[in-house]
Amino acid sequence: RVLFRSRTALEASLAALEGGKFAFSFSSGLAAEQAVLQALEPGAKVLVSEDVYGGTGRLFRRLFARYGFQFEFLDLSDLAAVEAAVDANTKLIWVETPTNPLLRVIDIAAMAKIANKVGAILAVDNTFASPILQSPLALGAHLVVHSTTKYIGGHSDLIGGALVTSDEALAEKLRFVQFAAGAVN
Ligand SMILES: *Cc1c(COP(=O)(O)O)cnc(C)c1O
Repeated sequence: RVLFRSRTALEASLAALEGGKFAFSFSSGLAAEQAVLQALEPGAKVLVSEDVYGGTGRLFRRLFARYGFQFEFLDLSDLAAVEAAVDANTKLIWVETPTNPLLRVIDIAAMAKIANKVGAILAVDNTFASPILQSPLALGAHLVVHSTTKYIGGHSDLIGGALVTSDEALAEKLRFVQFAAGAVN
């Protein structure tokens, strides 16, 4: 017997929109972002778009930096700078493209190549483009992040967040964080 909950239906729709195998919905975009960091080990190095959404910057710099995560904010359109910044301790590259609010565009496929070299997760915040205009997983990203509060939800109709991936091991970790930490919707 399959218990088909409303959250399962939402997650199946989000996975289909992004062309991913697994989706996890959260109580907000920031809750989804927290779950990504909680799926890493403390001390992980994270490369981040320098003009990332303000709330994301605050979450990383002012909250998770206190738990030993090493965030490096840089211009991810400068591939040489990214190549120079990645190392074996880089566990996550956090791309927001286009960025909110400056609308800078970053080459997702190029970021995927760099991430794969060191075995880092490439996460793309696809909130601004929406799945209609950009499919990060098809371009090589391992994880898509959404604030469904914005375009997906219709702006101002609801508060929500989502993560989408086709990576089974990553999905397993995210599923546990979603279950254990409780930022669900
Ligand atoms: C709004 C926004 C978020 C945060 O989402 P909330 O649902 O407000 O928590 C994350 N990333 C981007 C690009 C956003 O615009």
